[in-house]
Amino acid sequence: MENLNELHATYPKPKIPTAPVLSWSSIGFKSNKTPAILDLKNVLYLTSGRSAIGLALKALNIQAGDEILIPAYHCTSMVEPTIWLDAKPVFFKIHGNTKINLSHIKQLITKKTRAIIVVNYFGFLQDMEPIRKICDEHSIGLIEDCAHSFFGGTPQQPIGALSDYVIASSLKFFPIFDGGGLCSNRNSLKMFVTKRAGLAFEIKSLINNLERAFDYKRLKPLSAIVKLPLFLKSKLRKTLKHRQLKNGAEIPKISGPAAADGGFHFDPNWVDKKMSITSRLIMNFADKSRIISKRRNYYNKWHTALSDCPGGKALFPQLPENVIPHVYPYLVDQPETVFPHLKNMGVPIIRFGEYLWEGVDESICSISTDLSRRTLQFPCHQELTEKEVEWAIKSVRNALTLKQPHDTHE
Ligand SMILES: *Cc1c(COP(=O)(O)O)cnc(C)c1O
Repeated sequence: MENLNELHATYPKPKIPTAPVLSWSSIGFKSNKTPAILDLKNVLYLTSGRSAIGLALKALNIQAGDEILIPAYHCTSMVEPTIWLDAKPVFFKIHGNTKINLSHIKQLITKKTRAIIVVNYFGFLQDMEPIRKICDEHSIGLIEDCAHSFFGGTPQQPIGALSDYVIASSLKFFPIFDGGGLCSNRNSLKMFVTKRAGLAFEIKSLINNLERAFDYKRLKPLSAIVKLPLFLKSKLRKTLKHRQLKNGAEIPKISGPAAADGGFHFDPNWVDKKMSITSRLIMNFADKSRIISKRRNYYNKWHTALSDCPGGKALFPQLPENVIPHVYPYLVDQPETVFPHLKNMGVPIIRFGEYLWEGVDESICSISTDLSRRTLQFPCHQELTEKEVEWAIKSVRNALTLKQPHDTHE
């Protein structure tokens, strides 16, 4: 499992954007008081969520041999920072509603346990008070993974307020190429000095952002003006490559963090790099209330449309007020046929936890392996149009009600 792009390369490109892409409506300019994890006292703007996990573990002074409690339902980029520090991941169970299993966590705590990572899956918030108490009793660092919960919570209970460190994956909520954050209400982050990644990365972030938007026919008049320079750029790159191949020289690679390209890997070189200027500006000026209302609205559309569908069921029975969803998670009875069918039709599907860390199987947490296999997540991000969402919903409904091949032959 090198890279999501390679893995899913056998499928056609999604017909509608899987993640937010920049449009004229993305930018709002009005200041709004929208509860988000960036309201926490201390914030570092980084290039990805996994970098933030790496820094959080550093901040907790994790040493070789220390044990880090990680949910059995995870993505591998959540585990890699632990391996980077030669610490040991220990996987804990979750319940069917994705709430963490406190009694299993208690059983797993040893003298070597130094930190726990808790995830607000798909934007649905965990109850943080009991786990805060356990962490205090055992002097364990509490890392809240808010990769799926950038917004949400309430003024009385802001997300992340009880945790030692909070990590964000901004690129999951904003139309940006790179972006993550490390935040904390309880601890200073002053010991970390972040650095600019360099001009090549800044340019790449800007260009990729525009290209993604143009790809999906966003930013219309601008796309016509900018397409020529983009075309020249790719021409130039090809010529350079050709020349270098002839001369046997190395081809320089304008690189970015793996997260930005859909990769799984954790690269220590990116841990202390600053978010690109483009991403920072877009995040700053983004219309946050639009993000919130559109996501909730599209989530509800999915929920209503699939409620009577055979072949699957919603992971969550309802959408609480304090949840700004990352995606619409849906449990499919026969993912082995439904998933490729939908992918071939160009429906974007996200599969958090599709690949679990080696050794995490039914014996550790059968709920996690079942969620890993059966939960498909459909996009509900703010940059989809009503029409696109309707098309995706119709495609999914059709796929779920399709008779399975063995039914039709009899
Ligand atoms: C995506 C994700 C991460 C990693 O974030 P990146 O920005 O992709 O590095 C961490 N935790 C969870 C739960 C995620 O979904």
